[in-house]
Amino acid sequence: MKAPAKSSGSSSPAVSTPAPSAAAADPGRKPGEREGFDFFSLLAEHEHEQVSAYYDPSTGYRGIIAIHSTVLGPALGGTRFWNYQSDRDALIDALRLARGMTYKAAVAGLNLGGGKGVIIGDNRTTRREALFRAHGRHVESLKGRYITAEDVGTSTADMEYIKAETNHVTGLIGRSGDPSPVTAYGVYRGIKACVHYRSGSDGLSGKAVALQGCGSVGYHLAKLLHAEGASITCTDIDPQRVKRVVEDSAAKAVAPDAIYDVRASIFAPCALGAVINDDTVQRLQVEIVAGAANNQLAEDRHGDLLERRGITYAPDYVINGGGLINVNAELHGWAPERARSKAGEIYDTLLRVFEIAREEGCPSYRAADRLAEQRIAAIAKVRRNFV
Ligand code: NAD
Repeated sequence: MKAPAKSSGSSSPAVSTPAPSAAAADPGRKPGEREGFDFFSLLAEHEHEQVSAYYDPSTGYRGIIAIHSTVLGPALGGTRFWNYQSDRDALIDALRLARGMTYKAAVAGLNLGGGKGVIIGDNRTTRREALFRAHGRHVESLKGRYITAEDVGTSTADMEYIKAETNHVTGLIGRSGDPSPVTAYGVYRGIKACVHYRSGSDGLSGKAVALQGCGSVGYHLAKLLHAEGASITCTDIDPQRVKRVVEDSAAKAVAPDAIYDVRASIFAPCALGAVINDDTVQRLQVEIVAGAANNQLAEDRHGDLLERRGITYAPDYVINGGGLINVNAELHGWAPERARSKAGEIYDTLLRVFEIAREEGCPSYRAADRLAEQRIAAIAKVRRNFV
């Protein structure tokens, strides 16, 4: 990226991309020579609308906001605070995550687009107020095209600082609250859809579930599964969290690595990303992979491998959409029942994904992308005319 570059979306007085000078970034290159990657090619690659970079010298704030699409509505996505190795890494992360948000909102049937903020720096800093207020001013400069929320390295308290500068922020203290119960309910409905797809009936009584992660979502999911008569084998690296699920949902516990070898109907990853990889994809002894974790496939080809093994995969961003639905509920003042009911629709969405996969002869993770793209294209056509 060339520096300095004016933000495409911000009218801030301090808008420059914080990249080091071209020669400093690559000592082999002469001053003035083009850097090894083309900024607009990166945006064009995934059809991003806008990137805004903002630097605040008083706090050292360096932030990037990527807006992938606003076809369906304002671009929503959390702010990640991370010590990126380079500005380029930060930009690419923002672009990748913003695009993911577009697809997630589209398949959840929400009138939201996709965006993401990143703040470059050490997220353990205690000097947070001025930094997050600088970020709030950055968000405000986009005049509602981007709405922010919590993400890795940020907290509800940080959102309060942002709120002092802009109304385009969600996940505030005392508002929609912990999204995990809604997410867990959506995952539960998604698991039922997968069971229905495979057997024609969605009852979970007697079904065995291998649950990875007994955290906020895993705990609530286990309770729903147990209430319907499923038997649960669970794991977590935190013994206290395992204990809660064993006691409250009559689960059996296994060691963290043993979860991949459990013979069960369903593997529900609710801990980390990239858990479907070269090692685990061969070990799984299940019919269905359906859980809350983000980015479950280490690479796309692992989705193909699941398909080849005859394992039904519920694409992660479809089945875990309850968290985003909860944020949307806060934005629009929905009652909790309405958010839960919307999360319940994940059942029908997944059945539609599996139908597209069958019609197009593609794996489910690609079918989910098709469904999102179809909705975005259809709405873009409807909104073509000036009214
Ligand atoms: P959490 O931090 O409350 O729980 C995650 C649990 O996984 C923790 O108990 C942790 O100890 C455990 N864990 C970490 N490494 C593990 C390992 N190697 N083996 C077994 N357990 C391990 O998080 P959460 O809110 O329950 O979210 C779970 C997953 O779902 C995350 O990937 C998150 O990004 C995703 N997600 C959550 C929501 C939500 O509403 N909370 C929404 C969408 C997606």
